[in-house]
Formats: sequence, C-alpha cells, structure tokens
Amino acid sequence: MKYVGAHVSAAGGVENAPLNAAKIGAKAFALFIKNQRQWLAKPLSDENITAFKDNMAECGIAPEHVLPHDSYLINLGHPEKAALEKSRRAFVDEMQRCRQLGLPLLNFHPGSHLKKISEDQSLALVAESINLALDECEGVTAVIENTAGQGSNLGYKFEHLADIIAQVKDKSRVGVCIDTCHTFTAGYDLRSTADCENTFAEFDRLVGFQYLRGMHLNGSKAVFASRVDRHHSLEQGELGLDVFRFIMNDTRFDDIPMVLETIDNSIWPEEIELLYSLEQQPR
Ligand SMILES: [Zn+2]
Ligand SMILES: [Zn+2]
Repeated sequence: MKYVGAHVSAAGGVENAPLNAAKIGAKAFALFIKNQRQWLAKPLSDENITAFKDNMAECGIAPEHVLPHDSYLINLGHPEKAALEKSRRAFVDEMQRCRQLGLPLLNFHPGSHLKKISEDQSLALVAESINLALDECEGVTAVIENTAGQGSNLGYKFEHLADIIAQVKDKSRVGVCIDTCHTFTAGYDLRSTADCENTFAEFDRLVGFQYLRGMHLNGSKAVFASRVDRHHSLEQGELGLDVFRFIMNDTRFDDIPMVLETIDNSIWPEEIELLYSLEQQPR
C-alpha cells in the first residue's frame, strides 16, 4: 500500500501537524520537530507529546508513516571541530524529540565539506556522527536524503549514500530517503519509464531498496543534471508525471512515507489525489 502526504506545518506546536495532514487527505506526512532555522528550541512539553499522540490516533496515521526532517543548520560532515560538535549535539536533540513523540525515523541531508576537506573525509565524519547519535538515542533510524549536490553538499551520488551506510555500525538503524527532484538534478534521469527503470536499478545496485525508508515527491524547476535544488509542483517543471506513475505502481515503494515538498501548498490535496489516481492507471 502507498502512503502519500506532504511536509505540513507544525506552527503552534508539533501536535498540529497530524491535523494539518488529515485536512489535505494525507496518509503520511513530514514535519520539522523544532524551528528549522534556529539552533535552540525549548523542550517538548508533556502536553505537546500527549496531544501529538492523541491527534495521530485520531487521524489514523501510523508513526512509521511520519518522516520528521531535521534543521537546515545541522552539518554532520562539517570540517571544523567546534561546528561539527554543535551539529552533532543538535542532531541528537532532534533524535530524542522523535523518540519522545514515538516517531521511528529522522530524515536529514548528509552534510557539506565546505571545500575545506575532501568528500571522502566529510562522508566519514557524517558516518561517525550517525554512529554517535545512534549510541545516544535508541529506537530512531537515521534516514539520509540524497541531494541535488548544490555547492559543496554531499549526497548527490548514490555512492555517497552507500559509503556512509558502509561506515555505520548498526545497519538496522540507517536508511535513505530519495527525493525525485534532487535525483534528477543530480544527474539521474527520471523523465521516462525506461529512465526510471535504469535509475532505480542503479540505486538498488549501489545502495539497495532494503534501505529505502521514505520518498520526497517533487517536480523540478531546474533542468536535468544542473545540480540545482529548486522544487516545482508535480505537473509543472522539467520532470513530468511518468516518474510518479512509475513509483505509484511499483511495490518497492510500498509502506513508506512519501511526501510532497512541492511549492504550492494550496494544491496539495489535488496533488495527493493525482498520485493516488496514477496508481489506478498502470504504465
Ligand atoms: Zn527533499
Ligand atoms: Zn530540495
């Protein structure tokens, strides 16, 4: 079964996110569990936690279909010691918040080498950061997202994801999230069914579908292989709908949260409906 939703607002408290998801017909959702542009946030209160769990039950959304996203400030591959430490502490804090909310996944962008160390060195720091976080927090899986490769961001090659996973000690608590926009602008074509077959075969060969824990379903404003991260609505931009028809009809994408991060949230209900309608029209 497919679990489609969107990255919804948690304004006013994390407990509002499941309600916002239900309003748009989502069966899955993503959220920020603290302000994504600030280092510090006050701890979750017992009231927040109880209300979140109550609202989840009321909306009929299972914790494994929620894909929390960490703060954009965190860089687990940071070349400088003090900044790396700060990121690592913030990441553990986010993991602990997931744990408190009963959410088993935490999605994050791997990190950036900032042109101060090599990609391999930075990837090793990312893996070490994951190992440290998993040691400090039980019950949450670190879900590495592939990126468009803008600037010095790591994660634009499937090999980067594989490289990090290879260095993570507890393989049962590391996974990946594939973003269709990032994949495409990183240089893996997804425009035709044949392109999707090739790209996902490559993903399976290098990383493995057993590590797939979530998907970000986005169109792309930026052109193929541009290494630019600019999302678009599903029916607009450079990607086209074939990739979404492919995903919705392939059982390898069953039972994981698949969330929209498309740019016009006023049409999320229609986009969710569109995705489910594609499931009824196999290729
Ligand atoms: Zn994404
Ligand atoms: Zn993006």
